[in-house]
Amino acid sequence: MPFLKSVLKQYDLVIDKLELPDGVRERLRHPKRSLVVSIPIEMDSGAIKVYKGYRVQHDITLGPSKGGIRYHPNVNLEEVTALAMLMSWKCALMQLPYGGAKGGVCCNPAVMTLKEKERLTRRFTSEIIWAIGPEEDIPAPDMNTNMQTMAWMMDTYSMLKGHTSLGVVTGKPLVLGGSLGREEGTGRGVFYMVGEAAKIMGKELKGLTVAVQGFGNVGSTAARLLFEQGSNVTAVSNSKGGIYNKNGIDIESLIQHVSENKAIADFPNVEIITNEELLTIDCDVLIPASIEGQITRYNADKVKARMIVEGANGPTTPEADRILCDRGVSVIPDILANSGGVVISYFEWVQDLQFYFWKENEIQQRLKAIMTDIFSSVLSMSQEKKIDMRMAAWILGISRISEAQELRGLYP
Ligand code: GLU
Repeated sequence: MPFLKSVLKQYDLVIDKLELPDGVRERLRHPKRSLVVSIPIEMDSGAIKVYKGYRVQHDITLGPSKGGIRYHPNVNLEEVTALAMLMSWKCALMQLPYGGAKGGVCCNPAVMTLKEKERLTRRFTSEIIWAIGPEEDIPAPDMNTNMQTMAWMMDTYSMLKGHTSLGVVTGKPLVLGGSLGREEGTGRGVFYMVGEAAKIMGKELKGLTVAVQGFGNVGSTAARLLFEQGSNVTAVSNSKGGIYNKNGIDIESLIQHVSENKAIADFPNVEIITNEELLTIDCDVLIPASIEGQITRYNADKVKARMIVEGANGPTTPEADRILCDRGVSVIPDILANSGGVVISYFEWVQDLQFYFWKENEIQQRLKAIMTDIFSSVLSMSQEKKIDMRMAAWILGISRISEAQELRGLYP
């Protein structure tokens, strides 16, 4: 099922459970604005190539819209729309003064040089410039974009406006108004949520068996923090395939290995497994941290993990959710589990607007407090209403937006 369809299906399931004022269901089903742009750039060869870029602002009831920019060959308007909707629920659930947005460019960054990526980023920024801004819409990194991408975006925006604007994007390098802890924020948040999952199972992080799909920023950070606490990360994968060692993989050495541009399959003392096998490995916690649509009705019945903590956005389809729920596998949903990134983005934006910067331990403590607090609200609601945690998280997020919409009223 296409991703947008599956997000809308989940939306209908949630809305059916909620008693919302007339019109809210319809209003939140559609993105507020969708911008599609052509991005012509000169390649290093001298050839001109035109890429397609997107920025979708799903909802701005609670404040400026917020969400990442991804570079990936599968990026399209439907995908970005679905992800923008998830950002609206995520920001609302986490009680941030933000609406939801997402952007992306359909390209293959793996075959582009740094200079080509810089030209792409700058031209994309200038094409969407009238839609973004510290009080309008604040992009951030997502799949295959990073601090450098944000530095180029911030510079392009600032040059065109004629003044330096720190708050226009988050996830920037420290020296450009970035925040301590932002780069590892999403992975750290996932790590905190695995801690909560362990508590539910009556286990310690030490000795907990974990499988991680995706070894990018989110997956590798979560795996490292868990490894440091003595968890047994038995399986790890990326888009090329996975590795397994029942006694646990040395994640610090694996990060070093990957940073030397070596394939994870060449890591010593491991068995090679496929991504499909990774998802069905016997472990306490499974962390899908790659891309949407990984746990589906075709493999959900084979998942052996007792809990799933979603590092990626949308890794589990609604059909898979139902199968997992029937089998007693709990899922800590994406909009909660991977919210560490946007929560620290919010901290970064606040620091930029105040030109006053916080210490790292303060940032980590605040992140942990917010995430564990909201986790317990989600858990209590799911227990009280006998619904899964995704449903509870969506209900909390959507209710907040709906309450704000009702108070604001319908313009004109
Ligand atoms: N791209 C991240 C997400 O999906 C972070 C967004 C942000 O920091 O604005 O939540």
